Amino acid sequence: MKTQALKIDREALLAQTLRGEFPDARGRFGPFGGRYVPETLVPALDRLEQGIRDILPDPAFKAELDLQLRTWVGRPTPLTYAATLSQRWGAEVWLKREDLAHTGAHKINNAIGQGLLAKRLGAKRIVAETGAGQHGVATAAACARLGMPCTVYMGSIDMERQAPNVGRMKLLGAEVVPVTGGDKTLRAAIDEALRDWVSDPNGTFYILGSAVGPHPYPYMVREFQRVIGVEARAQMLAQAGALPDVVVACVGGGSNAIGLFHPFVPDTEVKLLGFEAGGIGPGLGQNAASLAYGTPGVLQGCYSLLLQDEHGQVQETQSVSAGLDYPGVGPEHALLASIGRLGFAAAEDDESLEALSECSRYEGILPAIETAHAFAGARKYAASNPGCRILIGLSGRGDKDMPTLQRTLLKGKT
Ligand SMILES: *Cc1c(COP(=O)(O)O)cnc(C)c1O
Repeated sequence: MKTQALKIDREALLAQTLRGEFPDARGRFGPFGGRYVPETLVPALDRLEQGIRDILPDPAFKAELDLQLRTWVGRPTPLTYAATLSQRWGAEVWLKREDLAHTGAHKINNAIGQGLLAKRLGAKRIVAETGAGQHGVATAAACARLGMPCTVYMGSIDMERQAPNVGRMKLLGAEVVPVTGGDKTLRAAIDEALRDWVSDPNGTFYILGSAVGPHPYPYMVREFQRVIGVEARAQMLAQAGALPDVVVACVGGGSNAIGLFHPFVPDTEVKLLGFEAGGIGPGLGQNAASLAYGTPGVLQGCYSLLLQDEHGQVQETQSVSAGLDYPGVGPEHALLASIGRLGFAAAEDDESLEALSECSRYEGILPAIETAHAFAGARKYAASNPGCRILIGLSGRGDKDMPTLQRTLLKGKT
């Protein structure tokens, strides 16, 4: 990681991190995070922050969220012992099964959480952005459940690439608006959703899909995704009889990873490892690995690590996995990585597809291509750490990826 330019006191920041002091009052995770937005957005973000402070700790809100998580999302999700992978890798492998959550991935935890919060704050309609369509589907489902109208912005290129998810959102009652400006993909969709929100910040609530964006989004998304790690930590103690040696997750914006990692951060004997989209190689434009290859800068309201050229122009990214294909990463990951609490590496397209195939064939679980990056990374880690106990965040199921898998893994085989 190229953070030499940042003068940071790693030891002090680590101590603050372990004491749970981030984000601070300015919405910062050490040097990262904050709020780099037009003036017009500041009052709306302030109101949201105040709302979070008042509502999240409220026992009635907690009970309402807990009821939805248990009876509609399907929580707690199981912890599965992966017997064959354990044998093949020479390790002890455990899987936290977010693929079994409603709509097939962890994203629903955040969508229903923010949806309930929006209702409490008196919002009349929801807007959201989506890239691959997974967050759009989760948000459309949450809005249908809560009786809120929902508008999802989606890049016109993504709408073509992810046509089945567009249909799913429509069936769930959402309006899907094509975004034809900018890069016509996720970045442009986020910009458009923010624009919509600014035009009516009281009546509209913006449900952002990952642990990115201006404060308080990275914090709020983490709080709604933390349930993954809280459950997994207790399940490891109950089922494995011990904490894992290492916790592994894939990192796009970083929401499933921070949700799984966060409750383990104070367990300093537990290693945390994030795997990003290595695409086809380490060159600029060949991947979407912002921790591995990024430099500090501002993207969509937040100071973090991002893929940019020497003039600060954000770079095109490349990955076989639509859900990891984003040029930035959440500020909390940037902090944890820069102080050495989080290890990270890139997993490339080919090795991830191979790992997807292995998990499917030997555990009877077809993971999402995003998730497969975590498997590729975990497998490499096991090879150099024989006998280790590994917890992998199985962030989602791979059924949505069949068109891509037909073109890649299955090419010539069907
Ligand atoms: C969206 C998605 C991701 C990447 O998003 P994060 O915010 O980094 O978690 C990972 N896995 C699955 C299954 C997804 O749908």
